[in-house]
Parts: sequence; structure tokens; C-alpha cells
Amino acid sequence: MSAEAITPQAETKEFQAEVKKMLDIVIHSLYTEKDIFLRELISNSADALEKFRHQQLLEQEVFDSHVPLEITIDCDETNHTITITDTGIGMDRGELEANLGTIAHSGSKTFFSKLSEGEQKNVHLIGQFGVGFYAAFMVANTVRVKSRSFRQDDMGHEWVSDGAGTYTISMSPGIRRGTSITLELKEEARHYANAATLTRIIKRYSSFVPFPIKVKGEAVNTVQALWTRSKNEIKAEEYTEFYKFVANAFDEPLARLHFTADAPLAIKALLFVPQENMENMGFGRMEPGVNLYCQRVLIEQHAKTILPEWLRFVKGVIDSEDLPLNISRQALQDSALVMKINKVVTTRFLKFLDELSRSEPEQYGKFWKTFGVFLKEGAISDFSHREEVAKLLRFESSTTEAGAFTSLKEYVERMPEGQKEIYYINGANREAIEAGPYVEAFRKRGIEVLYTLEAIDDFALNHVGEFEGKKLVSADRGDLDLPAAAKAAEAEAEAEAALPGAEATALVAWMQEVLAGKVKEVKESKRLSGSPAIIVNPDGFLTSSMERVMRASGQAMPDLGRKVLEINTSHPLLKGLNNLRASDEPLAKSVVEQIFDNAMIQAGLTVESRSMVERTYKILARLVGSGA
Ligand code: ADP
Repeated sequence: MSAEAITPQAETKEFQAEVKKMLDIVIHSLYTEKDIFLRELISNSADALEKFRHQQLLEQEVFDSHVPLEITIDCDETNHTITITDTGIGMDRGELEANLGTIAHSGSKTFFSKLSEGEQKNVHLIGQFGVGFYAAFMVANTVRVKSRSFRQDDMGHEWVSDGAGTYTISMSPGIRRGTSITLELKEEARHYANAATLTRIIKRYSSFVPFPIKVKGEAVNTVQALWTRSKNEIKAEEYTEFYKFVANAFDEPLARLHFTADAPLAIKALLFVPQENMENMGFGRMEPGVNLYCQRVLIEQHAKTILPEWLRFVKGVIDSEDLPLNISRQALQDSALVMKINKVVTTRFLKFLDELSRSEPEQYGKFWKTFGVFLKEGAISDFSHREEVAKLLRFESSTTEAGAFTSLKEYVERMPEGQKEIYYINGANREAIEAGPYVEAFRKRGIEVLYTLEAIDDFALNHVGEFEGKKLVSADRGDLDLPAAAKAAEAEAEAEAALPGAEATALVAWMQEVLAGKVKEVKESKRLSGSPAIIVNPDGFLTSSMERVMRASGQAMPDLGRKVLEINTSHPLLKGLNNLRASDEPLAKSVVEQIFDNAMIQAGLTVESRSMVERTYKILARLVGSGA
């Protein structure tokens, strides 16, 4: 095989299908805000420079080690071109192909496949994910990328494309380390080949890039690390601009925390909560949003271990001069120091949220609605911050108005004397819960019940376990320990109307026989008043809503025999059933099965619908007297 066959001189290749789709959107749909092409290319250059700076710390042998780390921009008004050059890490032939011919990020891939036509024009959304390099085609007919890797053995290559489906790569010897991108501007974008225009755009979008940017030799930005400056010197607009820079955002942050700690570690952190939860919008799992610095040098972008995974919605910067500058990615993963920084910053951030909930309850409510799901994830997955997270949880309850939230702390403060536990019940919505059987006993005793409306809620409360020494208990648990005084009064009232003791015992035993294999036990209920029956969970560990989720995810479940059916022997239906048993046992059995299915449905659990429908038809036929 000749050397040429191994590395052909010039080679034309097809873009990956996703790239074609992305290019199509970029070229045909993104009419507005074309300016962002420059931001995207400068941000790629800055990343490449950061990567080079980090590489230099790790290895001695890098090519062109003397050239200054900077971004230079040139334009030619006669030939209508712009050239953006960086002295960053560069790309070899394989990297040019992989990075500019395919979309590596699975996030961006799903993002684009999910966007509707209308949304594809929404630069706010696209900006958050970044069309990245391909933004060049918003303004250029032809894009030429010359690049040479920092590796000693790379020769330099040129990549050229008109964005129509293919690109060509050829050798380009004799160039410096880094990347230089030349845009041959489309007719309608020719005005960009103007130094003043370029300078204006850079000031607007890229003023926080941590490397010098020069337009026609003139420095445009002052390189600054905002997080290292003192809080009272920084204007609100500067914070917002910086947020837009780190989060690729177009709006204001929802909340901001800027703090400095000296002991036990030297930490400077500037953290933001964005307005939107991108995961909620169906874009898949977010990458972590905080970058790790040591004395203003970027150690890791989107650092994975610097904050817990469940805080991945937080954007910003953490800088600690205690970190060794030349720490490798691998060492970061299991560094005890990183774990310590993680702990300090997480604790501080959760305290900040707690303060926010008191100083700006409305803002906190907004935060909770958008990002509460991450805190619930934290309550479940992170034992070390469970108590701090528990303080931040919010739920609707029988005491709040629809749509308003309460905290566990407020719940405890409202607890009447004698109540020992905190109660919650899951349901599809407030109305369903309030119409269901589970809250009856609580309503009668004036005991508040938290409404957990999301499947994850019961898991979160179950993991939190207790709050201020009060156990968190699901109201569908079998052995509820409700206040005694009220219990006595209630028992008295109900004893009058209930079936006499012996009859009730016989009815219970008979029903248990009818439902053999379906329930663990049938019991006389102490808690029901309006409803005839209720399903409760004997072990108190698994709530019905948790069971539903686990079944849906295909997890093996202890069989249904565990459920307990409690019946209300003062309810007319049960009294009537007791009589029917003597006169028409087969029909009475169908009624028992139907009572059980109804109670299962009210517990949010699934029943076998075919036999249930057949059975109800049979019962209905009897009711209308068809004699079937
Ligand atoms: P993203 O920046 O989100 O990864 P892009 O499409 O902008 O997506 O770029 C794809 C990849 O191409 C980058 O991840 C990077 O590896 C490489 N790249 C782009 N521009 C440069 C550059 N100026 N220098 C070195 N590598 C670059």
C-alpha cells in the first residue's frame, strides 16, 4: 500500500446524517441573531486554548510552545472574508473528521431530533445547546478550517466545506499550532467583514473569554475572572453578562450565589440557577454546568465531581487555589480534595437556597417548581446532604391552597398536640386525593396531610425518613398510629351504626376467603367513615405509589398477597352485602371482588380490566333485572 492510500492527499467525505439536519436548520431556519456565529467560534477557540494550557501543564513536549495564547480576528472587506485564529490545541486529520463531520454529543443529537419546526427557530433554546461550529454556515458560503495539533508529529491539514453535504480534507504543511477558520461570507452577511461590527459583537457576547481577543491587532476584551473580584465592586449587569457567558444563556439567572471561603479550603465560587430546566423540556440528561478552576486556570469544564450529580442544573465557576495546577482528569475523579470542595460548596449552596426561601419566598417557589425535582433526586441519592435537602422540600397539603406549597418545618409547627408523625399521601392530583378514602380519617381529626403529586415524591420522603425527630409516614400504611383521644370519640360514634361484632367477624372471614390469593388480610377498618373499603400497605415501607412506579419499570415485586383490604362495616354497602351473602352468594362474591378492585383503583394500582368489566356487566344486568 502506498503512503498516499493511508493518508490520502485530498479526500471528500459525506457529513453524518445528523450534521446534515443541523446544517439545514442553521442555514434555513435561524434567520435572527446571526451574530451568534462569532460567539460560537470564539467559544470553540477559547476551549481549544484552555485545553492547550492544561495539556502544557501535563506534558513537556508540545509543538510551538512559545506562541502566545490568544484569539486573533481579521477581516477583508474587499474579498468579504473573516478569519478567526487561535493558538489552541488544534486538530489533526482524524480529529477534523470526527469533530467537524459528526455530532459527538448525544445531548445535541436528541435535542435536534426532538425540536419541532417552530422551536428550531428559537435561538434561545438552540443557544443553550449551541450549534457550535456549524453556526459558521449561518453567514458563510464556504468555511475553511486550517488546523495543526499540539502533538509533535502532526503536519497540519485543511478542511473545506460549503455546508451542502460534503467536506474535503487535504494536507496543509507549514502552519502554526492551533486553528484558523476562514469564512467566505454570503452576500447578505457581507457587512460582518468590518472591524467595528466584529468588535461590537465580541463586546456583547464574549467579553468574559479568558484569553485576549484581538480584532485587526487591537485588543477588544480585558481578560478578567469576575469570581475573583470582591462582591461589592461587581455590578448586577456584570453578573448577568457573566452568567450569559458561562451558561450560554440569553436571559437573566433565577438566582445567584457568589462566595469566598478561606477555611478549611480556599474557595471562590460564583454559581447561578438558570430560569429553565432543560431536562423538563425533554432534552435528556444535562451535563454538569460548573467549571473548575485553580487560580483562574481552567482545570475542567463541566466538571463531573466538583458538585453532586443532582446539582447538575447549577451553572458557574468554582476556583480553588488548593488544587494542584497539573492535576489530571483521572486524578480529579478520585481526589479527596475535590470531594472536600464538593462538600463545602454543596452545603453553602443548600444554605443559600434555604435563606432564599425565607428572604424571597416567591422566587423560591419559582425555583422549586422548576428545579425541585433535582432536590428530590438529591434526597434519594445523597445521604450526606439529606437533612439539608429535607428543609428545602415543598409540597401541597390539605392545609395549603391548591398550587401553594408548604415545608416540612411549617407542617411540624402546625402539628396539633398528640400528633407524632408527619403524614403524606400520593395521588394524581389534589382533587383525586381529596375525593379518595385515604384522607378521611385525617380530615376528621384535623390532621394535615401532605399531598405528594409526583411519583418521585414518595421515594424522596421515604429516604428522608424523618424530620425534626418526626417520622414521615404514608397515609396508606396499615398500622397508622393516629392520636388516641380523637380515636375514642370516633369509635363511639361508629360503633352505633356498625354491624354487630360477631356478624362483622364472620363477614370479614368470608370476604377473606373470597379474596384468597389476592389479599394478605381483610380487616375491619378503624379509619374509614364515608368510603366502604380501602387498600393499605402492611409493612409501611412501600407505598402504593412506589409500588406502581416499580412495577412500571419492570422490577420484580412481592406479590399482591401483601395488601390488606380494610372494610367499613358501618357502610350501607357492607351491611347490604352481609344480607346478600345469605340470599345470593354468587352475586355477593362478585360484589366483594368489585369492592376490592375499586379500592385498588383508588390506591392508584392496576386491576385486570377485562374480568372487571365482565363482572360489572353481570352485576348491572342483575340490577336492571335482565336475569342474566
Ligand atoms: P462543541 O463545541 O459543542 O463540542 P462544535 O460543533 O462547536 O461542538 O465543535 C465540535 C468539536 O470540534 C469541539 O468539541 C472541538 O473538539 C472541535 N473544535 C471546534 N473548534 C475548534 C478549535 N478552534 N480548535 C480546536 N478544536 C475545535
